[in-house]
Amino acid sequence: MILPWHKSAFSKLKKMIDLNHVPHALLITGVEKIGKFALMQELVKILLCENQSCGECELCLSLKKDNPKEDLGYSALIRRSHYPNLIYCRTEINDSGSMSKEIRIDQVRTFCEILGKTADALQIGVIFYADQMNANAANSLLKTLEEPRKNTLIVLLAHNINSLPATILSRCQSIHINPTYEKESAVWLSNHIDENVSADYDAMQLLEGAHGVPQKVIEELKGDYFFQYQGWQNLLLEIANHPIKAIETEIFDGNEVQVLSCLQNLITEGIKLKVVKHDGGNIELNRVIEKAPSDYLFKLLDDTSRAISLSQTTVNMKLLLDNILIVWSHITHLKKYPTITNIQEI
Ligand SMILES: [Zn+2]
Repeated sequence: MILPWHKSAFSKLKKMIDLNHVPHALLITGVEKIGKFALMQELVKILLCENQSCGECELCLSLKKDNPKEDLGYSALIRRSHYPNLIYCRTEINDSGSMSKEIRIDQVRTFCEILGKTADALQIGVIFYADQMNANAANSLLKTLEEPRKNTLIVLLAHNINSLPATILSRCQSIHINPTYEKESAVWLSNHIDENVSADYDAMQLLEGAHGVPQKVIEELKGDYFFQYQGWQNLLLEIANHPIKAIETEIFDGNEVQVLSCLQNLITEGIKLKVVKHDGGNIELNRVIEKAPSDYLFKLLDDTSRAISLSQTTVNMKLLLDNILIVWSHITHLKKYPTITNIQEI
């Protein structure tokens, strides 16, 4: 199954295959958790499965068993895939038991040697992540890239294209997976998160909070994200209820976008409570919205949403959050709604 946010990258790959332009070396880039490994697997299936990636034949089933997160418990220089002509190269467990930070030259050498052996069927070698190769390893790979062999495909997966040497880049065709803010991805996300969560949160907002990386949302929801979220929410309410009190906001650091979407949820909830005038809801939130004028709440909601959308730009999010919080802290007794710097200018 092609993930909704992989469609455009996948159609480029498909086009290469259809036109018989599959390169000797392919580079798949994209931020962490965007699904580079999954896209690579789809490519391999299309290339090798006789029924166009059926998902059911022996090959498709054995590929499915290749999970990059599995088998980390032992040191593996090269791990053969469940498909015999596919090999993987990645960082290994070092002596102290933790994952090494780099892929070394001996690993790449072995990788190239195995790929160099003659085989009737297509041989595929995958390095992930190529931006973890140290300089010697990259140099060693370069030689193989310079003299491509028939019937061999090297796939490099990388988070950051800038950490790869230009000499390697120039020998690869690259495909980039973009972060996604499409409705289709939000729908996919709400189908993949807990029902209780999807009832409480808007999938698109969660997606924005995770910079357009759906798998990141899923991961965050599994971890202690919810406790963190509760902490932000409590602090935000404290700020609005006690505007004069000096409040430590370190727990917001580094989470500016998520805090903004937490505030966005609070204001939305507050507006609902105010408009519908029903009892219930968070007591602290009720206390805030009782005094805060509706039109200011709507204005701040608008500014907060705009601030979140600016997270894709080079705007200083910390400053932006501070500016929003100044207004939020005065929301119960504002005389006039101010213009928030950095938001209105853009
Ligand atoms: Zn198949």
